[in-house]
Amino acid sequence: MRILILGGVGEALKLARALAPIHRVIYSVAGKGRIPELPCAMRVGGFGGADGLAAFLREQSIERLIDATHPYAAQISHNAALAARLAGIPLWAYRRPAWRPEPGDDWRSVADWTGMMAALREFRRPFFTLGLEPLRHVADIPPEQHWLVRCLAAEPSASPRLTLLCATGPFALEQELVLLRDYRIDVLVAKNSGGGAVEAKLAAARRLNIPVILLERPALPVADREFAEVARLAAEMTDFLSD
Ligand code: NAP
Repeated sequence: MRILILGGVGEALKLARALAPIHRVIYSVAGKGRIPELPCAMRVGGFGGADGLAAFLREQSIERLIDATHPYAAQISHNAALAARLAGIPLWAYRRPAWRPEPGDDWRSVADWTGMMAALREFRRPFFTLGLEPLRHVADIPPEQHWLVRCLAAEPSASPRLTLLCATGPFALEQELVLLRDYRIDVLVAKNSGGGAVEAKLAAARRLNIPVILLERPALPVADREFAEVARLAAEMTDFLSD
């Protein structure tokens, strides 16, 4: 079967590796991070919206679209749902389960940036692990706060109220504990990404009794089939072959 996998997270790579020996797989990435090495065809860069993606699906005679993108990459997931409909093919999706708090955790949920700034008022030294978004709000840093921002890559910031750390996960618990202590962090700010690669920061916050502010997940479209595990999705694609 000809499959297009929309990737961008580690599980999508696992899926591509599992399906490549038995299907004709194209793996697609936006091109913002590292380009992985895979035993299948690769495509790098956007399609030009849902119409562009639908045109690609038709040109390549794709029979199954698999959305295995990050839970906060809502635009591409919405494009995928529309494009699959336009091209008349099924959409399957890997929807990574959210992290859940453990007893004693102080997790606070906010809907957007405005909610985030309000929730941060009582804190002085937040640690942001939201990507580039905080760097767009450097001018709004209250005088009593100092922000530590970790992201993949960014231009250095000139603000004395901000420390920028460019780093790529996964991060170990010990590393996260050192970071939280060294920078005297009093609140962790994160997306509820789920998965194991960047989960250690939550364990470190738990260990040090640091509250966590979580940006709510965006709403995603409903796919024809949705899977909480890529192994299950891969198994179903293999079963499909032997039907
Ligand atoms: P987004 O807002 O949903 O997508 C923005 C645009 O990027 C899309 O409209 C599409 O461009 C292009 N795009 C996104 N994923 C693509 C893919 N797999 N293949 C080809 N084009 C893609 O996504 P984002 O939040 O910027 O994230 C970009 C990529 O990084 C995603 O693939 C996601 O899986 C990965 N990622 C995101 C996060 C996060 O926190 N958002 C974290 C880790 C990894 P066109 O409209 O031109 O097709």
